[in-house]
Amino acid sequence: MKLYNSKHKKIEEFVPIVPGQVSMYVCGPTVYNHPHIGNARPIVVFDLLRRVLVELGYKVHMVSNFTDIDDRIIEKAQNEKISEKDVASRYIDAYNEVSKKLNANGVDARPLATDSIASIIKFIEDLCEKGFAYEKEGNVFFRVDRVASYGEISSQNIEALEVGARIEANTMKENPLDFLLWKVTDDDGIKWDSPWGMGRPGWHTECVVMIQDEFKTNHIDIHGGGEDLKFPHHENESAQCKALHNHDLANYWIHNGMMNVDGIKMSKSLGNVTWAKDYISEFGTNVTRWLLLSTHYRLNLNFTEEVVEQSQNELNRIEQVLHKTEIEFQKGGYQSDSLEMVGMVYEQFMAALQDDLNVANAQAVMFELVKTMNQSLRQRDKDFEVMKTQYNTLKRMLDVLGIDFETVVLSNDDLQLFNDWDAAKAAKDFETADGLRAKLLEKGLI
Ligand SMILES: [Zn+2]
Repeated sequence: MKLYNSKHKKIEEFVPIVPGQVSMYVCGPTVYNHPHIGNARPIVVFDLLRRVLVELGYKVHMVSNFTDIDDRIIEKAQNEKISEKDVASRYIDAYNEVSKKLNANGVDARPLATDSIASIIKFIEDLCEKGFAYEKEGNVFFRVDRVASYGEISSQNIEALEVGARIEANTMKENPLDFLLWKVTDDDGIKWDSPWGMGRPGWHTECVVMIQDEFKTNHIDIHGGGEDLKFPHHENESAQCKALHNHDLANYWIHNGMMNVDGIKMSKSLGNVTWAKDYISEFGTNVTRWLLLSTHYRLNLNFTEEVVEQSQNELNRIEQVLHKTEIEFQKGGYQSDSLEMVGMVYEQFMAALQDDLNVANAQAVMFELVKTMNQSLRQRDKDFEVMKTQYNTLKRMLDVLGIDFETVVLSNDDLQLFNDWDAAKAAKDFETADGLRAKLLEKGLI
């Protein structure tokens, strides 16, 4: 497996820490609203990465958190006069529902930041003790200049950042780039007691601690998230781990591109936000997944009507050949439990995905197979054994992509209709044949 590692800005061979196993953490959403279609992209992208790794024989442990401590959650709770927990749990349910509908059910654990407060406080205490953090009036800051490789994950020029940060310098900070680990507050929002007074933890610390708590280690294989999380979030996660443990948090930092609508960045102020749930109910799971995966995960995905239409057409072609083949098997009374595949075609497909998830090349292999399957269907003397290996191969590919089509099961009446239709055609009784054809069409069988 080859993956683009943001940390080294190049494609690298994936070598896991423990042979045969993969630990993967993906930053989850801040739960103050429904996920929009842009938020659905990392769900599908990292689900595909998980599926490919599993297909390659790895045992994958995947964790994705919920950030349930945030000013926007507090604001919503106060506006609605409910607790922060109620706001968070409403949108956690919404997010889980979207993940389920996207056929992305492989996450092994979904920790909440609020469940890790004790570990977070301990972690910040350790940073203070080792001189990597300092307290000012109840706030605790991380000393960025104590980590020599700061900027590595996001390829930032630290001097340029310092110049920029000085403009809005916080007088409490020793260095304008230092970031908050604990924020003291006496507001009405959710807060916890700590050695530095009542307050809330910083987002960057939450993820590092949830990783430690869930994986029982502070060194994992893959850390993922959207491109927009590279800086400061991932840089700061990484810096804290390097400070405390002298090594990076993850070996591979993987980032997915952003999503535009008709070439414009999706944002609430522009009013071009589409909720993922609405999109999925309109177009279905398969089209949504296919669309989100068709553009290479590192590129920005431009969401247009044409892209939707193209996804629908491509999937129709695949569905049709599968259903036609299933019908031919049943008409011919062919049954087989064989799982044999066309090895070379399957290997080409997997090779494309192993190349930093090159879905477009994998899809091209699929369409070559669809063409071959259509040729098989046109043969007068159909070779069911060959057709079955082709069918198995296509089904397995769809499985790796998380696309699922229902199998057509013909009733005895349906079979009779097909037989009568074939007989009428053979007897050149076109009127009867047309009538039977209409009935089959109506049933959606042809
Ligand atoms: Zn995170």
